[in-house]
Amino acid sequence: MENQAEPEVIPDAPARRQPLIDQMFRLADQGHHCGGCSGVCCTFLANSMLITPVEALDLKTWLQSQGRWTDELILGLKECVKKFRLDQDLGDGRRSIRRTYTCPFYRNGPQGCSISRHYKPYGCLAFNARSPGVTEGGNCASDQDLLEKQLTETESALNRKLKAAHQLLFDKAPIPVALLSLSDG
Ligand code: SF4
Ligand code: SF4
Repeated sequence: MENQAEPEVIPDAPARRQPLIDQMFRLADQGHHCGGCSGVCCTFLANSMLITPVEALDLKTWLQSQGRWTDELILGLKECVKKFRLDQDLGDGRRSIRRTYTCPFYRNGPQGCSISRHYKPYGCLAFNARSPGVTEGGNCASDQDLLEKQLTETESALNRKLKAAHQLLFDKAPIPVALLSLSDG
């Protein structure tokens, strides 16, 4: 079969997240949802989410559209980086340590994420309960197959372009680090 060339422009942020959102709703129909959970996967107890430059740009653009890309937010991102030492690699020189942190967009309590599902990190959407009735995490997992299918060559190329344009040293970084790397201040 003839190879179909990938389009040069990636779909918009909501369209790229739709397969992940569809799967989340399929799981919710089976009772595997986060409605009764404290949201422990967004706190330093379990959150070590890393995002790409494209995901960071999606999130920044949405925050700007909501009037939330403010000096106060940027200060909060910086405080998060400092508190959880997200800018320090405390590995042994061969391996890096993936650090945990409380996401600056988490508000305490069930369904505490303050980001639209159409703009939040892919990994957040792909991480779901594996059984009904989860209240404090403990039985949740990331759908790695779906995440792998998510990344097209076109999107990888855009990540490389953003990395070069902003002189980024990472392919993926904690949410606040990635967002700050796209800020002017
Ligand atoms: S973006 Fe939302 S779901 Fe993802 S870690 Fe932050 S608060 Fe949690
Ligand atoms: S049920 Fe699992 S995925 Fe959902 S909020 Fe709780 S810890 Fe996170």
